[in-house]
Amino acid sequence: MILDGKKVSQEIINDLKEKFANYSGKIVLAIIWVGDNQASAIYIKNKLKKCKELGIDEKLYHLDTQTSEEELLNLIHKLNCDNDVKGILLQSPVPNSIDIKKCFNAISPLKDIDGFSNVSVGNLELGKPSFISCTPKGIIKLLDYYHIDLNGKNVCLINRSNIVGKPLFNLLIDRDATVVMCHSKTKDVKFYTQNADIVISAVGKPNFITADMIKDDAIVIDVGINRDNDKLCGDVDFASVSKKASYITPVPGGVGPMTVAMIFDNLWQTIVNK
Ligand code: NAP
Repeated sequence: MILDGKKVSQEIINDLKEKFANYSGKIVLAIIWVGDNQASAIYIKNKLKKCKELGIDEKLYHLDTQTSEEELLNLIHKLNCDNDVKGILLQSPVPNSIDIKKCFNAISPLKDIDGFSNVSVGNLELGKPSFISCTPKGIIKLLDYYHIDLNGKNVCLINRSNIVGKPLFNLLIDRDATVVMCHSKTKDVKFYTQNADIVISAVGKPNFITADMIKDDAIVIDVGINRDNDKLCGDVDFASVSKKASYITPVPGGVGPMTVAMIFDNLWQTIVNK
């Protein structure tokens, strides 16, 4: 069965649209883009499109590659103080001259809808209310939508990055899953995937997960976004794995749209949390 992230995310967006429409205050999403990375251009275009669909105001601050860290920090500070601005997104990557971690940490914890600041990460780890990084949150929402119970499940998570693997690890163990976290130094990834009820791959390599790596009826979540001969694909060899899995996310149309929906879910949280 397909875990249809496109459909589920659209339901979430429709629900949020109603909530935003009924909110009497001003809602501005501020997006900061430094430089001209072309992948960023596509992500930002999608976010701006969603703002239009949701009927909320967006402000794009497109800064020159030469922008100094101090200038960027000043802008973040200005946006922190602007009551109309409810959420701030700093698009990565930024030029090497800028310490992105420092800039993420400069975003007010009340407006950190990416959940990348130390405060958000720390709160999540401590099990306190927090803005949760959008991809991990979207994956959990998708599993919840299909009533997939994580309690006691063996999960093999292949990724240990700050934006995907680490927050997702916390969310999964909070749901009483048993989680093995694999990475590039793991000796035999297949050994772990074959024993897992749920395999979550965020490696960034086409066809990394093949049918022989999963057990019958496993649930497979494909986070990867790759290009194979110019075609968008995930990490999973979908044709073969989908025959063996009980549930599987497609790429495109799986985790990606859930991630975008969670940006706006977090934006709504900034209003609810007040
Ligand atoms: P990343 O920081 O490069 O993480 C990749 C992870 O894969 C690392 O933990 C790395 O291990 C591990 N890895 C690499 N080669 C491996 C191997 N041969 N065996 C086992 N593990 C291996 O990237 P990221 O930012 O987390 O993103 C990962 C993928 O998810 C990318 O394709 C990205 O485009 C995609 N993504 C998708 C969404 C979405 O919304 N769908 C959102 C975010 C990211 P080490 O830690 O040892 O290097």
